[in-house]
Amino acid sequence: MGEARSRIHRLPESLVRKIAAGEVIERPASVLKELVENALDAGARRIHIDVAEGGRQKIRVVDDGYGMSRADVELSVERHATSKLSSPTDLFTLDTLGFRGEALASIGAVSRLSIETRVAGDDEGTLIIIEGGVRREFGAVAHEVGTAVEVQSLFFNTPARRKFLRHTDTELRYLTQTVVQLSAAYPSVAFRLRHGDRDILDLLPGERRQRAAELLNADPEELLWVELSGGDTMKVEGFITPPGRCRRARSKQFLIVRQRPIQSRPVGTAIYAGYGSLLPPSAHPQYVLWLDLDPRNLDVNVHPTKREVRFAREAEVRQLVQEAVRTALRVPEASAFVGADSALPMAPARDNLRVAEGPARAFGEPETELEQMNLSLLPSAKPMGEVLDRSSGGEAMLIQARQSGIWQSHDKYLLLPIRDGILIVDQHAAHERVRYEEVQDMLVREGEASQQLLMPLTVDLSPVEMQAFQASEDMFRILGFGVRQFGPATLLVDSIPPELRNWGDGDIFYQILSDLIEELEARSEARDAMAASMACHTSIRAGERLDRREMTSLIERLLKAREPFACPHGRPILVKIPLTEFDRLFHRT
Ligand code: ADP
Ligand code: MG
Repeated sequence: MGEARSRIHRLPESLVRKIAAGEVIERPASVLKELVENALDAGARRIHIDVAEGGRQKIRVVDDGYGMSRADVELSVERHATSKLSSPTDLFTLDTLGFRGEALASIGAVSRLSIETRVAGDDEGTLIIIEGGVRREFGAVAHEVGTAVEVQSLFFNTPARRKFLRHTDTELRYLTQTVVQLSAAYPSVAFRLRHGDRDILDLLPGERRQRAAELLNADPEELLWVELSGGDTMKVEGFITPPGRCRRARSKQFLIVRQRPIQSRPVGTAIYAGYGSLLPPSAHPQYVLWLDLDPRNLDVNVHPTKREVRFAREAEVRQLVQEAVRTALRVPEASAFVGADSALPMAPARDNLRVAEGPARAFGEPETELEQMNLSLLPSAKPMGEVLDRSSGGEAMLIQARQSGIWQSHDKYLLLPIRDGILIVDQHAAHERVRYEEVQDMLVREGEASQQLLMPLTVDLSPVEMQAFQASEDMFRILGFGVRQFGPATLLVDSIPPELRNWGDGDIFYQILSDLIEELEARSEARDAMAASMACHTSIRAGERLDRREMTSLIERLLKAREPFACPHGRPILVKIPLTEFDRLFHRT
């Protein structure tokens, strides 16, 4: 294998710094995203994915891309080894999805990673196995041209991370979303996703219209074509659903900017504005839009996990998109759809995506009527503080709840039948209260465990933020943040509290700081302010599905709290609907 065969080279140190973005492989979906992006970068036409246990146990991605030579495989698992980027200017013309050369190294550090691969022209392929960052095997293997990467036992050596993985269904939903998003950007590539022995997705390669129709679960013919360019520097193309086919769920919205699935609030708003009054009340447009613009007008955050871009000429982009949508809807056929469809505006269509039962809702299939039924009993329900004094005994309540079960409703409230009624608990408020008290206690006790980041993250602070940080530096340390000053306006974070949820790319650090600044104005004790801000960011949110164990543990901890009736911001946590109220409703009195 001569030198010309080698596609991979090391990044210069200066660029490594420039990229200076920390990354935490947060969950199985982050691993899958990296692997699928690599396959796409390698020119794959067909990508087969097999996962087990929501990705916890296994994530396997097989592609028919160009593969790697033996020398390249060896380099590929080293940090900052990439074939894709060589000079700082390349960052702005990103033609590949990857460029940092750290994904495989990071993944190999926290799992058992095996790569089998072969390039065309080589007689034999190569197998490499890395376990917790240590090379276990390296040698020849028979393999077709292309690459198979398998990640087993993710986070086996970082128990804190592993513990914070969600319910299998939830992780599978993230996995599915990852594939769906990338498949919108690459319509001509076939994607298959299997979970255990179940087919979750099977997307055939096709034209953009076919792929859009499949992802939007629509008839290809009914999609409206959108196309407009603004001079020769920007262009938007894509498909939208006619107003009558708009749904109540907003999850079928795909924006692709230069081959990357992206979130952008300004563009989203522009699309709604394009529909204007044609959009039925509380309906959301469904769309797949591809936006192409001069990369110099794009601030793709160099950040790994970040799916947001900033547009240098945002107003122009917004205008272009709004106008494009408006024009597409004005096409004569469009109005026919409005009329024809409005009789059954929200009718759920057959789901030809073949989404598995659990994550189906991820794409926002309209809820069934039954699911929409709310407990409309609340007028006479009272916040628990008033109804129940402490003496009526948390213990007794818990025993009862254990016997009759706890239900989660709308991924937001927990329902517990008790002797004389039903308790309704706001899961976020409850957890926030529990965390608030825990953090307060921690700050007195000192010294929490912390969790090492795979890559330290640099954060640039404004003077106000820096001041707030310095004033509370001790508390940050106690809570488990490893933070060092790295320059007058920069911090280096290399470890975080293990219970910090959604650390993602570190945005949460800014949120905690800005909340802290706000809370400091409202509370005289710095410790309480810190506790309130940390509690908020380490709590379960509305919208998270909890399993039985999580629900019981939450209720248990809540009942032990010093003040279980109101969250740190004064909202109620518990309300009780007395049995007498049910009796009254059913005329049993
Ligand atoms: P990056 O994608 O940012 O370059 P990665 O750590 O994801 O970094 O991958 C390192 C290198 O390994 C890539 O630059 C690429 O050359 C090679 N590589 C990884 N996955 C594949 C694949 N599926 N097919 C071919 N080459 C791959
Ligand atoms: Mg990559």
